[in-house]
Amino acid sequence: MARSLYTKLVLIIMTLIVSFMAVVGAFLLHGVRSFYLSAFYEEMQSVFSSAELAEDLRSAADSDNAAGAIADILKAYSGHLGIDSGTRNYYVLDGMTGEYITGSNNPAGGIRNTANILTAMTGISGYASDASADYMDVAIPLSGAGGRYIVYIIDNKATVQSLGRDLSSIILEAMGVGLMISVLMSLLLAKTLVTPIQELTRAAERVASGDFDHKLENSAQDEIGVLSNTFNNMADTLEDTLNDLKKSEQMRREFVANVSHELRTPITSVKSYSETLLEDPDMDPEMRQKFLGVILNESDRMSKIVQDLLTLSRFDAGSIEFSFTTFSFEKSVRDVYSAMRMEAQKHSHEFTLEFRTPIPDIVGDRGRIEQVLINMVSNAIKYTRDGGRVKMTAGAKDGQVWCTVRDNGIGIPQQDVGRVFDRFYRVDKARSRESGGTGLGLSIASEIVSRHGGTLEIESKEGRGTAITVRLPVEGPAHE
Ligand code: ADP
Repeated sequence: MARSLYTKLVLIIMTLIVSFMAVVGAFLLHGVRSFYLSAFYEEMQSVFSSAELAEDLRSAADSDNAAGAIADILKAYSGHLGIDSGTRNYYVLDGMTGEYITGSNNPAGGIRNTANILTAMTGISGYASDASADYMDVAIPLSGAGGRYIVYIIDNKATVQSLGRDLSSIILEAMGVGLMISVLMSLLLAKTLVTPIQELTRAAERVASGDFDHKLENSAQDEIGVLSNTFNNMADTLEDTLNDLKKSEQMRREFVANVSHELRTPITSVKSYSETLLEDPDMDPEMRQKFLGVILNESDRMSKIVQDLLTLSRFDAGSIEFSFTTFSFEKSVRDVYSAMRMEAQKHSHEFTLEFRTPIPDIVGDRGRIEQVLINMVSNAIKYTRDGGRVKMTAGAKDGQVWCTVRDNGIGIPQQDVGRVFDRFYRVDKARSRESGGTGLGLSIASEIVSRHGGTLEIESKEGRGTAITVRLPVEGPAHE
């Protein structure tokens, strides 16, 4: 492909040079010919318009040997008329028939009756020029006592033709040199144009085969440089997209594996407890009650997982409608505090609430914001040993309201802190399960908060405690 582009370039340049030369040559030849033609007629007109010559000719025409006398005068004016007896000659013709009488030489085949001679025979000077004819002539009628004559000057264009030949050979030589230059230019073009295109092609082939490591190096500011840069950017974007795709595919696999795993445990429990109940109809009623309790518990758990998954998938699909209203964030914090007090008491936690600043009303989905706060507090209660401390603090700053839930619980190991917002991620699966967790609470919370244009941050030290902070813009999400 590159070779054919190269061939095309050479051919285009050669054609350009040849046609340019041909056009220039044609104009040059035409210019020289018409210059020569008009110079001839101007010269003739200026010579024959001289009163002195007219007078001399008239008196010659009156003499006895009129033709000879006219010829003598023309001879005397040879210099002015450019007569060289080779290409340009003068003749004295019979005024009635146009036949040759005398002249600067004796024409071998006589004199042709040209258009100008025919004009002169009618008594009018013939100055008509014909660029296509192979001669140039003027015929001037002359009549006196000695009879009627025609003074005839003819040029056979031999000079202009030899000039034309010289010009043509110069043009042909120039064409030859031009063709050589065109080959050299093509080599140069090939280097500046075809080589980078070949490099681009190789780079495209590499990218197509999945190799993104080799970048094109072209610092030129021209179109090829821009193309190379664009190509590099495109390859980068492609690589990022591919990595994102791989990542999301990996996440999807993990998610499916997690869902199956999460559901398998309760299903296995329900199945084995039901089988035992079926196999033993005479089971002790207390035991039966306990088994049924477990079945109910596990079913609740499954339905909670399914419910949470449904919520998340609706978030992903963007099909969950939020109902944004203006409400008191302070009241929501208070309400959540009141609602969670019983739960905290059950675990003998010291549960406190403190407002640092007055809190403005905010725009948001009240129910969902409270769901986030409940999730934060319930985690703090769950992941703190009984008799611990859980503290809610809230305030407002820089157009945002915030609420921190701090506990002195088990904390989260450093390497897990960043992952607690991942779906199904739990530091201690058994502990989470025991306390009814699904590992989806914080994922849902972070989706809700980001839909409000807010942030959720977690800070934790293993064995020391955790602080989780939600920040929400007072004005609600920018795009709502
Ligand atoms: P879960 O339903 O398991 O509580 P979450 O998404 O709410 O799921 O939380 C994810 C994980 O983050 C929890 O399993 C727990 O390991 C960790 N976690 C969250 N909050 C706390 C906290 N206050 N203290 C210690 N660990 C926490």
